[in-house]
Amino acid sequence: MRRKLAILGATGSVGKSTLDLIERNSERFEVVAVTAATNAEALADIARRTGARLAVVSDERRLSDLRELLVGSNCRAAAGDQALIEAATGEAELVIAAIVGCAGLKPVMAAIEAGRTVALANKEALVTAGALMTEAAIRSGATLLPVDSEHNAIFQCLACSRNDDVAKLILTASGGPFRTASAEMMRNATPAEAVAHPNWSMGAKISVDSATMMNKGLELIEAHHLFGVPSKRMEIIIHPQSVVHSLVEFVDGSVLAQLGSPDMRIPIAYALAWPERIPTPAQRLDLASIARLEFEQPDLTRFPALRIAREALEAGGSAPAVLNAANEAAVSRFLTGSIGFTDIPRLVERALEESNLAAPGSIAEVLEIDRLTRQRVDAVMQAV
Ligand code: NAD
Ligand code: MG
Repeated sequence: MRRKLAILGATGSVGKSTLDLIERNSERFEVVAVTAATNAEALADIARRTGARLAVVSDERRLSDLRELLVGSNCRAAAGDQALIEAATGEAELVIAAIVGCAGLKPVMAAIEAGRTVALANKEALVTAGALMTEAAIRSGATLLPVDSEHNAIFQCLACSRNDDVAKLILTASGGPFRTASAEMMRNATPAEAVAHPNWSMGAKISVDSATMMNKGLELIEAHHLFGVPSKRMEIIIHPQSVVHSLVEFVDGSVLAQLGSPDMRIPIAYALAWPERIPTPAQRLDLASIARLEFEQPDLTRFPALRIAREALEAGGSAPAVLNAANEAAVSRFLTGSIGFTDIPRLVERALEESNLAAPGSIAEVLEIDRLTRQRVDAVMQAV
């Protein structure tokens, strides 16, 4: 029996890596549903290649094109929020959540409530609604499998250990393209420089997040929800080679790490086949040629996003959802050239100063915080 999969965000970077693995292991997996934001052409191509029975484009204006592109196939075209939820909850047993940003919240929550196994790349869903999602998973019996490489590494290190045995989690960070850049250079950084990640090839938003190191801040919050570890027992360490993907220190002083080449197909494969493993074409580690693994403390002055995100985690309430929304809004402004690189953490901090709402009690409340925060960022932008 092949495992039935839905791929949310099939046209993106994680989506493509997932498809590559599925095509190499077609005897194990069957794709039943695929989704994309607007690219009907790429989505229709994926639907035909995989034999998916449902293809969903979020942008309803692209539905007629998608329908036309799928004429003669066995795949139904659909569009909009409700169709996205159908893709996440229909026939699929395993849902690959690879939409970027808060846009993934509703389908991820729907998959969890329906008791599906969710391979989660969409970290923004956990950052903004982590408690709601983990509680829903307990109620429904859904399984959450981390795809983010650091969390996948920690998940692998934790296999067979008890919660009480864990002393701390150590998340590694490459430091991004500006690890050694001067403050002056960072002020003038262009979108092209910011998305040029030294080790990983990823979508534009997460690449900018890696450059500001907000990505690691979001990952701290993500780790808190996935593994139930408080802020004071989580550390971030810079590791420029991106070979050690994260570590767990246990109470006896043992430290376990997961290593591998920086290729997302390794953590994605682990989530796809869990609790088994499948082969991947990822490059094997040649330790002798790597020769040296380096570690250093992060610089909180040049990378204030790390401090801001940790403060949001510790503040709780609406702070993580505000952090995420302000960051999404700021990053998209940076990518279109309307603000500078160092304005990103500044705008996020500003949004957090003016927010002190209670923790959201539902996905609708999270989305309302998201909307209000984006409005606030707009207002700040107009005032300057
Ligand atoms: P990407 O931009 O390459 O792809 C995003 C996908 O989401 C696309 O299929 C796009 O069509 C879809 N999408 C975008 N906006 C949407 C919307 N409003 N509604 C519905 N669908 C929408 O992004 P990515 O790099 O693949 O990242 C996806 C997620 O995985 C992000 O949350 C990211 O933080 C996380 N992640 C990515 C990597 C990586 O290596 N790329 C690593 C770890 C975690
Ligand atoms: Mg990561």
